[in-house]
Amino acid sequence: MKRIHWHWTAGAVGMIGMEADSYHEIVQPNGTVQPGTWPIEANRAPITPGRYAAHTLNANSDAIGISCDAMAGAQERPFVWGSNPLTEVQIDAMLQRTAHWCRVYGIPVSRTTTLSHAEVQRNLGVRQRNKWDFTVLPGMTAVADPVAIGDQLRARLAAMLGGQGAPAGTCEIEPAVPASERVRITTFGSHLNLRRWPSFADNVIATIPGGAVVPVQRRGSFAGTAWTCVKHAGREGWVVSSFTTPA
Ligand SMILES: [Zn+2]
Repeated sequence: MKRIHWHWTAGAVGMIGMEADSYHEIVQPNGTVQPGTWPIEANRAPITPGRYAAHTLNANSDAIGISCDAMAGAQERPFVWGSNPLTEVQIDAMLQRTAHWCRVYGIPVSRTTTLSHAEVQRNLGVRQRNKWDFTVLPGMTAVADPVAIGDQLRARLAAMLGGQGAPAGTCEIEPAVPASERVRITTFGSHLNLRRWPSFADNVIATIPGGAVVPVQRRGSFAGTAWTCVKHAGREGWVVSSFTTPA
């Protein structure tokens, strides 16, 4: 298997037959993961007509389909979440399952190998019918560029993989750093944002005072920015590397 595609079902809570037939795994709002009708191997090329999970138009061969059971009644423009909005727990579980299958099949993290349905037309050049899963994430109030959303998801995925799975392209995690490594926070302001994952999306979980010395967990490069994963006050998160110096 060569790719993993992220979807949402556009359905209400609870798996129905059509959803089971379309995806290999379906993630409920509480993070529970249910298997679909077809095993992942049913999508291994060459696929047999009618006997595979048909999750992405003309791009199902060697592609694993993981879907969040969400977004019933949602509307793209003007944006409305509907009665079954995506949850943070659901996104996290979808990415955990993605990390699992990345390890199993040796799939690298990149825009052409781990991507949302909304990115397929642009990143793979395979025409789709106005798919917008995922152009929005929990906490957002309007849709955004699908590749920007995809990069956020890939950044979180690469962070989960922690350097395993040879992340490539826009997301690269460096090999593990020595346990003793520390950096000093050198922000121009009084505090530096600590972020849940390495992107500038709305994901600040704490701030670290300038001058503080914190232990380094790992480093990576995401969408052209170098990030350092650190621990502060019992929380693990990411800071922009240019605001740190060796300590
Ligand atoms: Zn889809």
